[in-house]
Amino acid sequence: MNTGRVYLVGAGPGDPGLLTVRGLELLRKADVVVYDQLVSPALLEQGSPLSERIFVGKQSGRHCIAQEEINRLLITHACRGSEVVRLKGGDPFVFGRGGEEAEALAGAGIPFEIVPGVSSAVAVPAYAGIPLTHRKIASSFAVVTGHEARKSEDGVDWSKLATAVDTLVILMGLGNLPIIVRKLVAHGRAPDTPVSVICRGTTTDQEAVRGTLADIVEKSAHVKPPALIVVGDVVSLADKLQWFMPVHYNHSFHEPGFGSCARQEVRGATLP
Ligand code: SAH
Repeated sequence: MNTGRVYLVGAGPGDPGLLTVRGLELLRKADVVVYDQLVSPALLEQGSPLSERIFVGKQSGRHCIAQEEINRLLITHACRGSEVVRLKGGDPFVFGRGGEEAEALAGAGIPFEIVPGVSSAVAVPAYAGIPLTHRKIASSFAVVTGHEARKSEDGVDWSKLATAVDTLVILMGLGNLPIIVRKLVAHGRAPDTPVSVICRGTTTDQEAVRGTLADIVEKSAHVKPPALIVVGDVVSLADKLQWFMPVHYNHSFHEPGFGSCARQEVRGATLP
C-alpha cells in the first residue's frame, strides 16, 4: 500500500469563511480529519461524510492529548495510505505546534504539505477595526505569547519588547494580563497606551474590550479565552473603523459557494 500524505491546514481564526480555498479543497476529500479545540464546527461539516474525524483538543476537565501522541496518530494514518488533514486553528506555524508536527512527519519519511491559514494574530484585530500598521501611527508589530509571562524562564524579553515595536499582539496572554501590563509599563510603555482585549474574534460571539495599560485589567476581568491582546496607538482607530457586527453573522455554509448570507450582505462577496 502506498503511504498517504498529511496536510497541516490552517483553519483560520473562527469565521469559517476565512478558510483558504486550498484548505477547503483538501478538507472535502480527506480520509481522516484530525482537529483542535479552536476549529469551527461549520468547517468540520465540510469534510466528507465518510471521513474519520478525530478530536485532539482539550476535553473539559481532562488534559490535552500529548503532542507525541498526535504525531503518532498522523504518522499511523498516513502509513495506512490515508490522506490526512490536520486542521489547526489560525495558521499552523503561528503558535500552533505545526513545526513540531512537520518535524515528526519529516523524521518518519511521511510526505506532507503546509497550507497556511489566516492567523488570529492579524484577523482578530482586523475584525475589531484595528489595523496592525498604519502609515501615520505604527510602522512595526510583533506577535508574542503571553503564556510564559509569569515564569522566570519566559522566552519573551519584555524589557526589550516593551518599546521596540509600535503594535504588540499577545496570544495566550489573558491569564497573565496583570503581569504583562506591569512588565510593559515597568519597561517604558506609557500607562495611557491604548489596549484592546478581543475574545472569540471573527465569530458571532466576538467581544472587544478597550482601555489603556492603566485600566484594561479591570475592564476585561470578565473576558474568557480564547482572547488576544493588542497594545498600541492603532487600537484607537477602532472608534472609526469598527465594521464587524457579530450579531449579523452566521457561522454556517449555506450555498454551494461558502460565504455565509450575512457575509455576502456585508461585503458583497461570493466565492467559487
Ligand atoms: N495558530 C493560531 C494560534 C494558536 S495559539 C493562530 O494562528 O491564530 C491560541 C491563541 O490564539 C489563543 O489563546 C488566543 O490568544 C488566540 N486566538 C485564537 N483564535 C482566537 C479568536 N478567535 N479570538 C481571539 N483570540 C484567538
